[in-house]
Amino acid sequence: MDTQNQVVDRLRATFRSGVTLPVEFRISQLKQLMAMLKDNEEQIVDALHQDLAKPKFEAILAEIDILTNELHYAITNIGSWVQLEYAAKNLATKLDDCFIRREPLGVVLIIAPWNYPLQLLILPMVGAIAAGNCVVIKPSEVSQATDSLVAELIPKYLSKDCYAVVRGGAEETKALLEIRFDHIFYTGCQAVARSVVQAASVYLTPVTLELGGKCPCLIYNQENVAAAAHRLVWSKFFNAGQSCVAPDYVVCSTATRDALLPVIRQVLEKFYGTEPQKSPDLSRIVSPRHWTRLMGLLGKTSGKVVIGGESNQEDKYIAPTVVVDVAEDDALMNEEIFGPILPILTEESVEKGIELVNRKEKPLALYVFSDDSSVVKTVMGKTSSGGFCANDGIIHMALPSLPFGGVGASGWGSYHGRWGFETFSHRRACMLRGWAMERLNGLRYPPYTEEKLTWLRWTTSPKTSCSMM
Ligand code: NAD
Repeated sequence: MDTQNQVVDRLRATFRSGVTLPVEFRISQLKQLMAMLKDNEEQIVDALHQDLAKPKFEAILAEIDILTNELHYAITNIGSWVQLEYAAKNLATKLDDCFIRREPLGVVLIIAPWNYPLQLLILPMVGAIAAGNCVVIKPSEVSQATDSLVAELIPKYLSKDCYAVVRGGAEETKALLEIRFDHIFYTGCQAVARSVVQAASVYLTPVTLELGGKCPCLIYNQENVAAAAHRLVWSKFFNAGQSCVAPDYVVCSTATRDALLPVIRQVLEKFYGTEPQKSPDLSRIVSPRHWTRLMGLLGKTSGKVVIGGESNQEDKYIAPTVVVDVAEDDALMNEEIFGPILPILTEESVEKGIELVNRKEKPLALYVFSDDSSVVKTVMGKTSSGGFCANDGIIHMALPSLPFGGVGASGWGSYHGRWGFETFSHRRACMLRGWAMERLNGLRYPPYTEEKLTWLRWTTSPKTSCSMM
């Protein structure tokens, strides 16, 4: 088996040969990825079930279809993405060709987590392939079944000289990070992100960080609590709460909380039955280690568990759980929950709710549920987050025309659709000059005079700029 260095060297040699440059080649590889998903749907669903007891419905929706849609979007639009973008010119450059050329970066590294182990590995890869890069992907070792399946399928469908899967855990990833790449795209937790940035600093490698945090859901002036409860419960307990964009906690008034709780109970029963452990529609916690962390948080909270709370270590099961009377400094509020536990905090006014949210790091997603559009506008205007969605949770990230990424501590950069293509492209500023207008050009040469300076300032001033291509 090749060492990590040999793999990267092979990909670098391929990249230098220019194989990945023609758009037709990139499209052919994206189509191969489409075929991989189509031909192996059953195995993929099965692997995701082994890893997380992920229901087939969620596996298809959030892993296979989201990727198929992304691939379709990229294949349809790549022709326009690679077009030269002509720049506005001034008098001094009127006869020149001035444009931006999107060029691939080279050999890029994509490191993925375990919660959507296929989606979060392949979706950035779509942008990287579309942009013409060679790519090393590093799946999460925690989602073992998907990790092995990807390692088996990728070389069967994609060019082995251009794309490679490197497997392993923390130690192997650290070793990989010592190799020079042209871009590192990391999805995972903030602690590891710091070491990724440190490793990248050796070669000043640019980094995209797709991280997490605590995504709030503010509920104010919401008359239709039944609709709110359905959307909240679905987005929170999808994948057993192990989504980076899952609502992490709710902030609402005491009256709204009291109206919401019985409806959340009913909706949970409607979705998962009276014994959620027997429901085929509820995922499991990915590993005993993650189960223990979540149970530790539940053990430490000073809040009151009003729904759920049951668990089973052997089955890595935690019931959909709602906790009230949670203080701002509670154990459940000190770290991203990333599991099926929903704390509800109370603040009587939306302004106070916003203040609470703004005392924390900027989240990856921020949700507001309200019948009142002025509440939505106020929350949008007075907060900051990677993404924003009113009156629903999670689904804003499924639209390839919207960039997906964090801000501040929830991440650097974005991807999905054109944004993924841009992340893995260099925007090269190109100016192709001719030899005409030498008198005008000669104005810049010494000996310098006041007259030359006056003319030069006029030719380069924004007033003489024109949109002539
Ligand atoms: P993680 O950081 O533990 O693991 C992610 C990847 O990093 C894995 O491939 C793993 O092998 C590797 N890794 C682990 N330890 C390492 C180390 N010391 N050095 C180098 N590499 C190492 O993250 P996770 O637990 O797999 O994922 C959970 C976190 O990811 C949550 O915070 C969640 O919010 C975040 N997340 C973010 C997004 C997003 O799109 N923004 C999506 C999913 C998850």
